[in-house]
Amino acid sequence: MPLSRSFTPRLLLVAVLTYALACAQYAFADTAALLIENARIVSTTGVSEPRDVLIEAGTITEIGPGLRPSVAEKGVRIIDAEGRFLSPGLIDSHVHLMGVPGESDALPAEVRDQALAQIPKSYLYFGFTTVLDLISADEPMVQWNNQALAPTAFHCVGVPIPGGYPMAWLPQEEQLASPIADYYLYDENQPALMAATPGSEQHKPKALVERIASTGARCIKTFYETGFGRLRNLPVPSLESMKALIREAHKHHLPVFLHGNSRKSYEFALEAGVDLLVHGPWHGVSASDAEALEALAEKVVQAGIGVQPTMQVIVGERELFSPDFFARPEVKAAVPSALRQWYQSEAGQWFVQNMSHGFGGPDEPHLHDKVHAAMAKPIGGVQAFTRALAVANGDLVFGSDTPSGPVYTQFPGLNGHQEIQHWASQGVTPPQIFAALTVRNAELLGLAETLGSVAEGKRADLLLLTDNPLESVDAYDSIAWVIVKGVPVERSKLAAN
Ligand SMILES: [Zn+2]
Repeated sequence: MPLSRSFTPRLLLVAVLTYALACAQYAFADTAALLIENARIVSTTGVSEPRDVLIEAGTITEIGPGLRPSVAEKGVRIIDAEGRFLSPGLIDSHVHLMGVPGESDALPAEVRDQALAQIPKSYLYFGFTTVLDLISADEPMVQWNNQALAPTAFHCVGVPIPGGYPMAWLPQEEQLASPIADYYLYDENQPALMAATPGSEQHKPKALVERIASTGARCIKTFYETGFGRLRNLPVPSLESMKALIREAHKHHLPVFLHGNSRKSYEFALEAGVDLLVHGPWHGVSASDAEALEALAEKVVQAGIGVQPTMQVIVGERELFSPDFFARPEVKAAVPSALRQWYQSEAGQWFVQNMSHGFGGPDEPHLHDKVHAAMAKPIGGVQAFTRALAVANGDLVFGSDTPSGPVYTQFPGLNGHQEIQHWASQGVTPPQIFAALTVRNAELLGLAETLGSVAEGKRADLLLLTDNPLESVDAYDSIAWVIVKGVPVERSKLAAN
């Protein structure tokens, strides 16, 4: 990896800059203080009596009844909540922040620029004030967080094995020179696989995790994926190497996520003792395996492993074939009109065309029905597994996988909104969903001291809602204000239309 080595001093500089910028951002986010009066604070234990919440320099500094007289002199901006519900901002711990979903070289530059400007607002529109990019590095996070109005982004570092997923998407000669190879795992138990890998010392678990931790990563993303589509028979990490990686990661308090969506990957996760399974087990299962799925859910719960079911990964693909998708009001709120038009053009339909070849081609008269029939089994499987986890009070961790590929139906913000609806439709209760969207994700990120609840000393990333999210997830459609690092923004100003 001569490329990555030559960048080391730059990476150090970036780390220093990251810290400096983060400090500057919090200090100057909003100099005017804000008082939210008469708000009923939502927490995992219920809803409070009306309270006043004082926010100064982006932080909640005081909560109590009758704060107005004590701040009257300070020139504080006041929002009367009139008994509405004040919730912590939502956290989506599975996004990918690069680019525009489903774009191609044919996307006109001005439409792309407009879309990139809207994407952070679309996250905020649906209530997401914090996002976790599962495969990234420090520099893109600095760039993202420099935007004037955006959810705060954190990152995980992706750790593939050479030739494995997701590196295998690239042509072989480009794999080791790509950024994803900067942190590949040197798997000592698979010497043949490692034969062509230079710089192996810095890829052994101890040195590798030290390098990852120094980027400010909140987690490590690993993969157990034998392939799909044109990728087949991909190598996967050995159990011993995965265990060694997890041991080193835990010394640095970094949780280890495993991409896995098959029964086999779930068995691997259980043996290795990962912290989080990313994706439901939709390969090789169906809803008719209810007993087997319940048993698997029970094992995962016993092992204390969290799960991101990411139902919208498959439902979103199915929605590519729904003719009414672009007419939905929530889609219009998320996606700028010029981009919506491009998606519906011949050029914008490139991925739909590609996918349709698996179902008889774009001219197949029963395309829609064929797609629905093919996806019924994996969707049914992950739905049944999610139901079983909810009943067993398992560790459901909210992450939407936005986007999971070039899939425009998985548009930022909208995709999380859809995933919330899917959870609710499978019987995950509104309080379970609220906890997964707030405190649980804050804990996962190691940020529970600053995020995840409405409390003094925490960052003022908040939502003011007309309805109570502990009663129904439809409450997330009733957001009136989004408070971003102490700055109140009316929800309507965040919409694309
Ligand atoms: Zn993903």
